[in-house]
Amino acid sequence: MEKRQELYAGKAKSVFYTDDPDKMVLVFRDDTSAFDGKKVEQLDRKGMVNNKFNAFIMSKLQEAGIPTHFEALLSDTECLVKRLDMMPVECVVRNIAAGSLCRRLGVEEGLELNPPTFELFLKDDALGDPMINESHVTTFGWAAPEHLQKAKELTYQVNDVLKALFLNGGMLLVDYKLEFGLFNGQVVLGDEFSPDGCRLWDSQTKEKLDKDRFRQGLGSVIESYEEVGRRLGIDFNV
Ligand code: UDP
Repeated sequence: MEKRQELYAGKAKSVFYTDDPDKMVLVFRDDTSAFDGKKVEQLDRKGMVNNKFNAFIMSKLQEAGIPTHFEALLSDTECLVKRLDMMPVECVVRNIAAGSLCRRLGVEEGLELNPPTFELFLKDDALGDPMINESHVTTFGWAAPEHLQKAKELTYQVNDVLKALFLNGGMLLVDYKLEFGLFNGQVVLGDEFSPDGCRLWDSQTKEKLDKDRFRQGLGSVIESYEEVGRRLGIDFNV
């Protein structure tokens, strides 16, 4: 497999074509951004940590029968993925209230959400990723109804697998965002899973171990990501 021209650079990852039209290379960079790219910093080792973290989580999801784009780890900061036709929507499941839910509905951070909530956001930086509903997705043709239903089902399935995985490591999976795409007509998870795109709290102390440390200027961002990995048994040195 040969890495070719860059297709685009996102806020934290770059995507490259390969000599196989069905495969792409993702490069995890050290760039860290928040607030729609208004706060940006380079955090040493972040690309490596998130790449290896993501590979570990993808293997757990695949073992549980959830189709993902992940193919192989290529280097410390690169992995090979299937090329999907992406749906421009973000699927968010919340087990505990935090972040925009608290701002929007005035509920207290830490409130247990039973059953967990499911939300959709349009992936559009210029509009600030507005919240949307299922009828918007159909009306504007962002995804076929059956594909959206499948993405929703898979997002909940991920919750069952990962809530248990993190709880085993003494952590609460507060919320997370996932994106999906189509590969040969099949709905496939086409996103990274790392502490950049989810919230994780220590189950006893409720200490934040995710990107909120960066958003809120709490410090020790990558050290916390590595601590999450260590609790899951990930060895970042191999
Ligand atoms: N999230 C993300 N990318 C986004 C927006 C949200 O990865 O563009 C994740 C975020 O890290 C959190 C979950 O989705 O785990 C819910 O985010 P929320 O709606 O609370 O927004 P925020 O408070 O991060 O603005």
